Amino acid sequence: MFEKVLIANRGEIALRIQRACREMGIRTVAVHSTADAHAMHVRLADESICIGPAAAKDSYLSIPAILTAAAISNADAIHPGYGFLSENADFAEKVEDHDFVFIGPKPEHISLMGDKIAAKQAVMDAGIPVVPGSDGAVENDAKALKVAADIGYPVLIKATAGGGGRGMKLAHSADELPDAISMASNEAQSAFGNGQVYMEKYLSNPRHIEIQILADGFGNVVHLGERDCSLQRRHQKVLEEAPSPALNDDVRQKIGKIAADAVKKIGYRSAGTIEFLYENGEFYFIEMNTRLQVEHPITEMITGLDLVREMVRIAAGAPLGYTQDDVTFNGHAIECRINAENPVTFMPSPGTIGDYHAPGGLGVRVDSALYSGYTVPPYYDSMIAKLIVHGTNRNECLMRLRRCLDEYVIDGLETSIPLHQRLMSAPEFVNGEYDIHWLEKFVGSGD
Ligand code: ADP
Repeated sequence: MFEKVLIANRGEIALRIQRACREMGIRTVAVHSTADAHAMHVRLADESICIGPAAAKDSYLSIPAILTAAAISNADAIHPGYGFLSENADFAEKVEDHDFVFIGPKPEHISLMGDKIAAKQAVMDAGIPVVPGSDGAVENDAKALKVAADIGYPVLIKATAGGGGRGMKLAHSADELPDAISMASNEAQSAFGNGQVYMEKYLSNPRHIEIQILADGFGNVVHLGERDCSLQRRHQKVLEEAPSPALNDDVRQKIGKIAADAVKKIGYRSAGTIEFLYENGEFYFIEMNTRLQVEHPITEMITGLDLVREMVRIAAGAPLGYTQDDVTFNGHAIECRINAENPVTFMPSPGTIGDYHAPGGLGVRVDSALYSGYTVPPYYDSMIAKLIVHGTNRNECLMRLRRCLDEYVIDGLETSIPLHQRLMSAPEFVNGEYDIHWLEKFVGSGD
């Protein structure tokens, strides 16, 4: 096992990884920007190294700075967390070239899944159903018009190098198609330096359902069930739950097996997530995330498995040691992402925390790096806490979540807690009857 792990991230996820390492008897190295000198992940680490100024591109995204920190601290392995360099194949490769272990998948799988067209083809070949669409990139309007006529409008133009919902444009008719293509392509070019786009049928009321996978690289693969992440605003997840109110156990096992078999066929290693849209009883692959996800705790709450610990074990060369039959699902879990932002306008609200009180009690977990007196810097993602609640069933989980949201005190800045409180009494949410578009309508309605 590793003696020392460097965590190439910040905030709650750096703390989350630190905790898992500490429980495994592994020392941790925190890296931080100058803006994060007083951050909790730095205060709690065994060692810390400043890797650059506030701007992420000069610190958390700087491969040379992180590799230098790993060398200085004599770390054995690097965990990238999520965001930043977690899905950067070049980083994973350089980590290994410098004789550190990358706690994640093989670089070739990161780069395969980072190319949406190649990813779609690869998973299709491995038996996963995909959204009907163009066969590869859309090179010209004539080809696009023909494909759109075949699959039917509306169609969605998506960026091959896409991420975070950027480079995505909807076309309702042939008239709108050429403009949608050029807008998506321009947006993709400026966001990712790659203007290539492809086309998919636009699903009008799907749910976003993703399957968590663990694979050890020796051919042992399990799925840990699904997470329903349909509550989104601008393609960003707001609240996630497991299991999905829309699936029964038969469907769960079936799609779980399809996902696990495909991952095995591809030869994947580490934790990974296969994302699907689910509409009228059918699953359609949209992408695979080759990293730990923000919403991983809800899977941990219902399976009792520590996903970070599993990633570390796998990276150290240990076999899974259990099979699908050993994986059991227990109760219901929901995660609320709490952002430092105005709950109505969604404008970021960085600032200094005054009084701070996190809820607790049975079945309650708060993943956050906040403390009273901490100043939330304006340079990074606005998510400041994840409130994760478990109950023996969905109703108990909801009752507990309401109690926790009422109990949570984060003074000094605006947060999205009031939005979550509002959600808790929306009949569509309470009944589990929502699709990926519902939250935007709910937020817009001011109900
Ligand atoms: P990104 O990598 O940019 O996040 P995804 O392919 O994961 O892109 O899609 C993000 C979100 O966009 C999905 O969760 C869903 O809300 C929406 N979306 C993507 N593809 C489709 C589609 N074919 N039809 C309808 N909505 C879609």
